[in-house]
Amino acid sequence: MEYNIALLRGDGIGPEIVDSAVKVLEKTAAKFGHKFNFKPYLIGGCAIDKTGVPLPQETIDGCLASDSVLLGAVGGPQWDDQPGDNRPEKALLGIRSALGLYMNLRPAKLYPALRSASPLKDEIVANGFDILIVRELIGGIYFGERGIRQGRCGEEAFDTESYSPMEIERIGRAAFEAAMKRRKRLCSIDKANVLETSRLWRRIMHGLSEEYPEVEYSDMFVDNAAMQLIRDPDQFDVIVTSNMFGDILSDEASQITGSIGMLPSASLGASTRGLFEPIHGSAPDIAGQNKADPLATILSGAMMLRYSFGLSSEADCIENAVNSVLDAGHRTADILGTSSNTPLSCTEITNKVIEVI
Ligand code: NAD
Repeated sequence: MEYNIALLRGDGIGPEIVDSAVKVLEKTAAKFGHKFNFKPYLIGGCAIDKTGVPLPQETIDGCLASDSVLLGAVGGPQWDDQPGDNRPEKALLGIRSALGLYMNLRPAKLYPALRSASPLKDEIVANGFDILIVRELIGGIYFGERGIRQGRCGEEAFDTESYSPMEIERIGRAAFEAAMKRRKRLCSIDKANVLETSRLWRRIMHGLSEEYPEVEYSDMFVDNAAMQLIRDPDQFDVIVTSNMFGDILSDEASQITGSIGMLPSASLGASTRGLFEPIHGSAPDIAGQNKADPLATILSGAMMLRYSFGLSSEADCIENAVNSVLDAGHRTADILGTSSNTPLSCTEITNKVIEVI
């Protein structure tokens, strides 16, 4: 099969890590008999330098014309004095909304070989963990009515959360489908003991659960979920939750893996076209030094194959290669821990993954 992939390298380490992922995707394409056509577009600070804006129309058009999009990272100190609506990071919200992406998938996986990187005690992470957080991305309190008004005690600020059954059902269905492709366990997280939106959320999720009898479904309050994630993360398979709860819990889940350079993410909408990117930023402190860990971006490429193109065996191949490279003891500096081995460069660890594929 032939696929067109838009590349948004961005700033800082963005170009290095995206180029690593491209090499891995090219190797995978050759192995499985596919053809990937890559086309680069500007985003972030480099787009400001060349065009004056962080998200040029040409980039939006190019992404819309592609089968999927791979993004590195944007931002850096040289653009810190840009006005708020022209900052590099503004392009991230812009591209997600232009592509109509309403859900964010964030795996938080603790690789057995990296157990010591987790800040949790050994006995808690003895079996590792592998969680997928499905977060609603364009609704809820971040997008609700807001403002400043006169209240009972004078001036007050307010933000409101609203969710329609349609918004809940589409994210819920996506989460059940994701659970069907994994260990078939889904936990929906809400605050239904207090919030009206959570009560509607729970009602819709329960309705959906009847359509997926194979999925072991449960509900959990968000305050309990925040505790359970650090008490026993391995109890979770797929988690589905609202925009704000997902924002907070996905950062907590990332943190307990202890390795920011290893975590990919996917944002998806109604079409198969998605935006795939590492969860970390542009790491300006190590940019251009060939020190960046490219594994999060390589794994984002694997997610693209799985979720945009339906190429599960090809995605498994990349993920297994990353596992093997880690099992063999290869590390970039960010995941070296207490090891006395010499860290590999970005290019060296990329080549190790390619060798295994
Ligand atoms: P960061 O994630 O860029 O870096 C935090 C720390 O983690 C740094 O020490 C960095 O060297 C290290 N790190 C991150 N990714 C790494 C990798 N792949 N390999 C090795 N080490 C890695 O976060 P920050 O320093 O807060 O932000 C830097 C810039 O990135 C800012 O301009 C910020 O706005 C931007 N940012 C962009 C995105 C995005 O593009 N999605 C996300 C977060 C931050």
